[in-house]
Amino acid sequence: MRTLHCDVCVVGGGSGGIGAALGAAKEGASVILVEKNQILGGTVTMSWVHTWEPVCGTSALCRNIWDRMRNLPLGASDADYELSSRRLQPDGQRNPPLPFEAWAFQKAVDELVTEAGVTVVTGTSFSACTGEGRRLTGVIAASAFETIEVKAKAFIDATADIVVARAAGCSYTIGAEARSAYDEPHAPGKADPIALNYVNWCYRVRPGSRLPLIRTHTPFPQEAIRPSRFEVAMPNGDILVNPCGMLVADPSSPEDFAAAVRRAWELAFEVHRWTVEEGGCTDRSLIGLAPEIGIRETYRLQGAYVLTENDILDGRMSYPDLVCSCDHPLDLHGYIHLELERPYGIPLACLETKEYDNLYVASRGASFSHIAASSCRLSRTIMTLGEAAGAAAATLRS
Ligand SMILES: Cc1cc2nc3c(=O)[nH]c(=O)nc-3n(C[C@H](O)[C@H](O)[C@H](O)COP(=O)(O)OP(=O)(O)OC[C@H]3O[C@@H](n4cnc5c(N)ncnc54)[C@H](O)[C@@H]3O)c2cc1C
Repeated sequence: MRTLHCDVCVVGGGSGGIGAALGAAKEGASVILVEKNQILGGTVTMSWVHTWEPVCGTSALCRNIWDRMRNLPLGASDADYELSSRRLQPDGQRNPPLPFEAWAFQKAVDELVTEAGVTVVTGTSFSACTGEGRRLTGVIAASAFETIEVKAKAFIDATADIVVARAAGCSYTIGAEARSAYDEPHAPGKADPIALNYVNWCYRVRPGSRLPLIRTHTPFPQEAIRPSRFEVAMPNGDILVNPCGMLVADPSSPEDFAAAVRRAWELAFEVHRWTVEEGGCTDRSLIGLAPEIGIRETYRLQGAYVLTENDILDGRMSYPDLVCSCDHPLDLHGYIHLELERPYGIPLACLETKEYDNLYVASRGASFSHIAASSCRLSRTIMTLGEAAGAAAATLRS
């Protein structure tokens, strides 16, 4: 086993991990970023969630990535970035989202990590960690070719499913908390571990082309097809379809989870067939499905502070360690959709584990309640939180 050394090791290279690696490097730390896929970007590049919803509080890094994507032919739309830096206009209208291409994001991020001197180890999956008391000392990860151990002074779990924090024995939870946990107005009376925000398989259609409809082996009953779709025009005229509200997948049961993923893949074909045959979109062809399913929620850290619905509805900003703000609605896709009257803050403590002094979580799996996570999980918010975790981790190197 080869051993690598650095100041800050980031595991997971999605929005949170990219922010974390660049945030730590900006503070002068040597950084190793370990990612299980062959490319960075996570949900953005692999699940084709390459649209940034309008939201406030995002960092200059997001703007830098946007400007780089805009400089690539057909890399990003000509939507107004400034306008998309807050959710609503004064009259309550939603500001436009920012669509871009997954390849443009990948290129911009690759340039940034190279310029920052981050060592990127792709195709390598975290498997175990070592620690002494309140300090994590190393992570072990394996590719098809070798196993490595990364020794670092600080670690950031940006795997979304908090695989490092769970392996290290940190407190975590899953699903909806009971009302008694945090007195959240929308919380159910009893905790529900499989009340999870939906998984979706995004796909891409091209208007004006003529490809046959694909029929799946196990057609879905009509009532299972929610024709509510979030559609975004890409710079080249294609349409990216996010067929909202597909299925809940329970990660605590691997067999059920795998079955739900396969059903979601078939459902993407069914939703497309419905839009053509019954939804009146006869002039469009399905030209591709994302390589991976989009997962909104699995395990969440129970960290130094748990952000709740009450913090969000109160617009609470008064944290000594405030690192980010956000104004995205509470959005549990059908169950709750509540626009906010004002932005709220997120403290660094939501990224800190209770058990370790040098392990942070910077992903959608950070320390938010189920309801709070439905608001603060947006890509740019998570990237901004990642940067804050990276900067904090970098201070631990001396
Ligand atoms: C269907 C859908 C639609 C959405 N719509 C929008 C939208 O319109 N706008 C918006 O801003 N946000 C949207 N979101 C939310 C947003 O995309 C995600 O919350 C955000 O991208 C999550 O970033 P992350 O870094 O937490 O996780 P991810 O992007 O999932 O990154 C986690 C990374 O960790 C890696 N990893 C996992 N396990 C390991 C391991 N063992 N070893 C090494 N690496 C590992 C993964 O490969 C991945 O690259 C949507 C999400 C979904 C699913």
